[in-house]
Amino acid sequence: MTMNRKNMRDQRLGILGAGQLGKMLCQRASQWNLKTILLDKSSEFPAAGMADEFITGDFTDAQDVAKLIGRCDRATIEIEKVSSEGLRKLRASGISVQPNIESLDVIKDKGLQKNFYRDAGFPSSAYRLISTEAEIKELVSQGKLPLPFVLKSRTGGYDGKGVQIVKTVDELDQLISGPYLIEELVDIAKELAVIAVANERGEVRSFPMVEMLFDPKANLVDYLICPSDVSPAIENHARQLAESLIAEMKICGLLSVEMFLTSDGEILINEVAPRPHNSGHHTIEACNHSQYEMHLRGVMNWPLPEIELVRPAAMLNILGTGEIGKTMIQGWQDLMTEPNVYPHIYGKNLSKPYRKMGHITVTGTTIEEVKQRSERIKGRLRVSGRTS
Ligand code: ADP
Repeated sequence: MTMNRKNMRDQRLGILGAGQLGKMLCQRASQWNLKTILLDKSSEFPAAGMADEFITGDFTDAQDVAKLIGRCDRATIEIEKVSSEGLRKLRASGISVQPNIESLDVIKDKGLQKNFYRDAGFPSSAYRLISTEAEIKELVSQGKLPLPFVLKSRTGGYDGKGVQIVKTVDELDQLISGPYLIEELVDIAKELAVIAVANERGEVRSFPMVEMLFDPKANLVDYLICPSDVSPAIENHARQLAESLIAEMKICGLLSVEMFLTSDGEILINEVAPRPHNSGHHTIEACNHSQYEMHLRGVMNWPLPEIELVRPAAMLNILGTGEIGKTMIQGWQDLMTEPNVYPHIYGKNLSKPYRKMGHITVTGTTIEEVKQRSERIKGRLRVSGRTS
């Protein structure tokens, strides 16, 4: 009997990473009684208690990743920086690994990602790859690299760490670490994201597009809204791009595609993640099928129904404030009086400034109403660190 004909109850899914994305994957898997085996460093992490089995191990270590061998039929990730060598060991043992490891290797390196878009004909900003700080300084001094530009560490960056906008010659003395991807500074009208999903049967779907709204004072993403405030033609184009890209990368499960809409009306792909994404949290309450459900369907090679937005929604991240310390939540009772407001607390024991500690989804009848209520709700639930 092949794996696919196995009863769903008999199938076991290995997941590398026990953060909030792993937690929400396990919650959804449990609804189907699909067994989950998690691997991460600590059984104190958010998802650990949700899994059917927890294996203590470092997902960046090939030997530790191999601990999943014999424990699951399929395996996936909730974070990119896992050991690809470990994933290859799983695949060699007969475990079906998704996303596909070769594409994951491309995605892990922002330079290889850009080469992929160029070679496959996907729109993305102009760029060049540079190894060292000294080369950057030399190119600038020779007038071959005009300021301003966007500097990115090719590997290891997340949540804007590893991205620097270099505007002046003085800033060349405080550069982030290389090797580098250098991009032209795009004149961004909107930041958008589309999550696509595919399975081994060749079915491909995408979620309605979301728009990131920025706090003009802090210049930080404030919250996400869906539907986005762009024309249907732009949304269709963005969804087609995301669907073509997931097919081109031969990825099963989710591919989250972050994009820029330029002031000239062009769509450029910024970067992708082959897993559930911050820009898809709202799908739990707002769509007919959530991103977590669709990731499971994709990696398990189960059918993919059409995805629809059932109600307009916003998603507000709850970031840690104040000191590093034991997590303390305030404003919970107050928020619970609001209808159609859905707080999610990840259960991280340690709060750090700007760490993602939870999120709130707000749904409503119109996007204007959702935006107004989100503005009112913002900041009412606070997570901070207690040091004493
Ligand atoms: P991360 O992987 O850390 O999320 P991103 O590549 O998404 O990093 O960049 C973080 C932010 O920096 C983007 O959301 C965008 O606001 C800005 N940014 C990135 N690339 C460019 C660019 N080429 N031009 C202008 N702004 C950019």
